[in-house]
Amino acid sequence: MEQTPESVWKACLEIIRDNITRQSFKTWFEPLKAVSLEPEGDLVKLTVQLPSRFYYEWLEEHYFALLRKTITKVLGPEGRLYYNIVIEKKDDAASDDEGASMHLPARQPANEPPPVMPQAPAPPGNTPAGPSPGGPHPPGRQPSPVATPFGAPQQPLPIANPFVIPGIQKAQIDSQLNASYTFERFIEGDCNRLARSASLAIAQQPGTTSFNPFLIYGGVGLGKTHLIQAIGNYVQQNRKVESVLYVSSERFTNEFVQAIQHNRASQFSLFYRQIDLLVIDDVQFFGGKEKTQEEFFHIFNALHQSSKQIVLSADRPPREIQGIEERLLSRFQWGLTADLQPPELETRIAILRRKADDDGIQFPPDVIEFIAHNIKSNIRELEGALIRLLAHATLHKREVDLVLAKEVLRDMVKDTRVNLTIEEIQRIVCEYFDMPEDLVRAKTRKREVVQARQVAMYFAKQLTQHSLKTIGLHFGGRDHSTVIHANQSVENQIETNQKFREMIDEIRHKIDLRSR
Ligand code: ADP
Ligand code: MG
Repeated sequence: MEQTPESVWKACLEIIRDNITRQSFKTWFEPLKAVSLEPEGDLVKLTVQLPSRFYYEWLEEHYFALLRKTITKVLGPEGRLYYNIVIEKKDDAASDDEGASMHLPARQPANEPPPVMPQAPAPPGNTPAGPSPGGPHPPGRQPSPVATPFGAPQQPLPIANPFVIPGIQKAQIDSQLNASYTFERFIEGDCNRLARSASLAIAQQPGTTSFNPFLIYGGVGLGKTHLIQAIGNYVQQNRKVESVLYVSSERFTNEFVQAIQHNRASQFSLFYRQIDLLVIDDVQFFGGKEKTQEEFFHIFNALHQSSKQIVLSADRPPREIQGIEERLLSRFQWGLTADLQPPELETRIAILRRKADDDGIQFPPDVIEFIAHNIKSNIRELEGALIRLLAHATLHKREVDLVLAKEVLRDMVKDTRVNLTIEEIQRIVCEYFDMPEDLVRAKTRKREVVQARQVAMYFAKQLTQHSLKTIGLHFGGRDHSTVIHANQSVENQIETNQKFREMIDEIRHKIDLRSR
């Protein structure tokens, strides 16, 4: 059968639809249109049209891997996806083609046996889209003034469009809270004392303390979501105020985009302004989303002025969040900011005991201690270890004891080498690649140097306890996001390229020999 752009894109959409939530699919994929399908050298080039640069950024950030796999499945390894950003102006119905054509390399799907495959060099002509003159958002869309509430009782997930019942004032708002995130279940320790007690004070008197907004920040899995939801649950249970809403900033953004698409931006805004306690999770995610930030800025001001409580979380201190406007950043810090630190040993033990108790399970004390001693950075991982251990014990009908724990959790126990320094890693890696050591710290972006630098960053992250920030500093003052990227890139290559994997094993072996 003849392949058309539409038929190919339709096949892609079917795969994508099965892999993401309905809401995300509707928001991010339904508005895309297939434009052309044409050969280019050995490649097959599918071009789809996007409504704005915002879409492009979003797709690249969140769906890169999925798109890559999908294109490879549908078009084979020669398949490439290009984006055409076309902003449709509402008023004069004219199309303004930015001429932005983005290249998305389709590599081998990660879940299939890793093929032996060198990294394909990017074909020429794939220059990234430049900034669009009109900004990333369609101009000329004025919100229409009709009030609509956030949905009536809905299923918790996937989350439906909030504007399902137009025209009802102050409807019952589904708070979207998870009832199990309570203060009772939140174990107190030195690592979280300030954040916890401030949370409780706010929950007892929302909007009336000077802690408005209240922002909790800390690394992954340290209890931010738990704690901010505990505030919401407490306020709701004790009927401190009428309407409570918990929303992740990702969902806020999704819904804002939908509201704009459906010309309902003002309902969106009115809806949020009637909330008495607004809890927004992971605000770092607003970074770079200018329109969403602007909307949130106005909602924030309206709520704050009428003494409605705002509670926020972020994965880093507000000052370090990138891509957030200054005026919003400064507001984040008007009230109180509290951080969550990784839990100390006693707290880890208490959390594990409590978790086992809650689940009605007996774990021998030495098993609890083994887990607590070895998994240090993240409470979610602590819980994950317990669950995994229990699953193994049930499945293989074995006692939960230290032997089983060591066996099952071997790969979760972080493989850190005592006294291994970042400099030592740099030296070993550079020796392996036969290049001067200072190049990994230099500015150069030569291909071989970039590779060595990424490999060294990868090992620094894997084998030392240093923070991403510290690692970045050792590589010529690079940003922590560069370290994350390097690590990701090395992991991808390990997965897809056998030669690369062997090389990494060899270097790891060299490190082992030196550092023990
Ligand atoms: P974050 O939002 O910071 O990534 P979460 O709030 O999702 O982290 O926490 C991860 C898991 O750890 C959740 O299941 C949460 O209930 C649990 N948890 C975090 N902190 C504590 C604590 N102090 N006491 C008990 N459980 C906790
Ligand atoms: Mg969270």
